[in-house]
Amino acid sequence: MTCETCDHTTSGLGNGYFWCPRCGTLKRFPQASWQTVTTPKLVERCREFGRTLGPLERVPWYRLGIEESIYRPEERQAP
Ligand SMILES: [Zn+2]
Repeated sequence: MTCETCDHTTSGLGNGYFWCPRCGTLKRFPQASWQTVTTPKLVERCREFGRTLGPLERVPWYRLGIEESIYRPEERQAP
């Protein structure tokens, strides 16, 4: 199962819970018909911070993997 936030593979925690080790998103999937997704507040704050960075400031942003940790592949901006 993939993460709703960053598309990384989630780890099963049991009882219908899945956790993403890359971004920390928690997904509860108790039944096939519904699920709940809880994204860490830090993801939203990093997205806000990323929007303030200029092109040169974004180099370490990509190098450290922050962009891939807070966006799905189709949402990421190219370096
Ligand atoms: Zn994730």
